[in-house]
Amino acid sequence: MEKVLIANRGEIALRILEACREEGLSAVAVFSQADREALHVREAPEAVCIGPPPAPKSYLSIPALMAACEVTGADALHPGYGFLSESAELAEICAAHGITFIGPPPEVLRLAGHKVATKERVARAGVPVLPGSPPLESLEEAVSWGKRLDYPLLLKAAAGGGGRGIRLVGSEEELRALFLRAQEEARLAFGDGTLFLERYVPSPRHVEVQILADAHGNVVHWGSRDCSVQRRHQKLVEEAPAPGLPPELRDRIEAAAVLAAKALNYVGAGTVEFLVEGEEFYLIELNARIQVEHPVSEMLVGRNLVREQLRVAKGEPLGYRQDQIELVGHAIECRLNAEDPGRDFLPSCGRLLIECLPGGIGVRLDTAIFQGMEVTPYYDPLLAKLITHGENREEARIRMNSALRRFRVRGVATNRDLLLEVIAHPDFAAGRLSTDFLERVVSSP
Ligand code: ADP
Ligand code: ADP
Ligand code: MG
Repeated sequence: MEKVLIANRGEIALRILEACREEGLSAVAVFSQADREALHVREAPEAVCIGPPPAPKSYLSIPALMAACEVTGADALHPGYGFLSESAELAEICAAHGITFIGPPPEVLRLAGHKVATKERVARAGVPVLPGSPPLESLEEAVSWGKRLDYPLLLKAAAGGGGRGIRLVGSEEELRALFLRAQEEARLAFGDGTLFLERYVPSPRHVEVQILADAHGNVVHWGSRDCSVQRRHQKLVEEAPAPGLPPELRDRIEAAAVLAAKALNYVGAGTVEFLVEGEEFYLIELNARIQVEHPVSEMLVGRNLVREQLRVAKGEPLGYRQDQIELVGHAIECRLNAEDPGRDFLPSCGRLLIECLPGGIGVRLDTAIFQGMEVTPYYDPLLAKLITHGENREEARIRMNSALRRFRVRGVATNRDLLLEVIAHPDFAAGRLSTDFLERVVSSP
């Protein structure tokens, strides 16, 4: 493995580029015409245009990516997150062309891409999951499972992601009214209309575990994260370790994550997501890719997770054991999005004017923004990830408060003030977290 094609954009493309440099690999960027000026294109030693506007589709074109590998002689591909990162099809096509896909093998992607199949597999290994239905073939089957499982339930898309395709159903009437539309929407959004029902947990915490496995059977975890501060099932604030969990419960969750990874024959970096309800926890899914919030775990471990992905893809053994991983201090991440709180958080576009950016001890800004950048409507609205690290949670929180105040941009609306409100809220300060946090405590969620 010598040359990595970066099949993504934005901050994650820059992270991959830097990790390639550290690992002594060359790298190639790809871009849509809408991203001609983008930082990942200008920073990369080589870049290939893979498509004209309308731009959103460009990074999803497997033929264009394969052609870019062919033209540039890239022998590996890193998909980043989102886009094709969990595509078993892409992993298979890469393999057929002798290109190393930097991620789990296709069989693992196929299994992890299906929430019901994942739950079935890990449950057999003894990992707790929420009661739910099998994949639902018809409305009548859904109705009969609804009776058995008892309302309220969640109707979820088996192939869903990004917080989409999740609906609360309070009764059989609601299920009847929603089912066919949900099926159609899932088909359009995820290319797979499979739905299932799952017990609804009213006010859980979202706790996940970063796992890392090499191709030689070694599996470690990098500790827990709490991602309970969400808007419409999408994470907004994440932190590591998950605060306030009894150590014994945290140990059990981490052990369950490793067990789940082993049950799936996992290779690479991945995230095992759980809901925690009191002393109980349940696996909800496994994200078979690098995740947006991975930096909070890196801050505790002191290693570059993207570089670890490259090492695993090269076939290197991890080279360290679980008891050699020390988790130091506490880290918090805020997702700064270009969206307008005054207009129901619709994406906000325009030319970016940077007045001031945060920095200093314990402050990390992962971003691809630059002065005068045009924020377009084509992609997800993430502008920057602001990460702070401290000896303890309170130090990280105070640093986040100052750092957010110093994130001052104009030209687009951002969710900065909402993030400040969260960070400063007494419930957040006290670690009273649950997935309904925003609705519960913030004036304008
Ligand atoms: P994470 O789980 O890594 O915290 P998200 O679930 O928000 O992050 O997803 C990571 C990125 O991928 C986001 O930019 C999101 O918009 C996008 N994404 C995730 N899943 C899908 C999907 N199934 N289809 C399209 N985009 C997705
Ligand atoms: P995605 O693939 O879109 O990330 P997940 O299954 O991971 O979907 O769920 C996203 C979020 O939706 C969770 O973090 C949680 O807030 C909520 N959620 C998912 N399943 C349940 C459930 N059974 N009960 C309550 N909330 C849930
Ligand atoms: Mg999830």
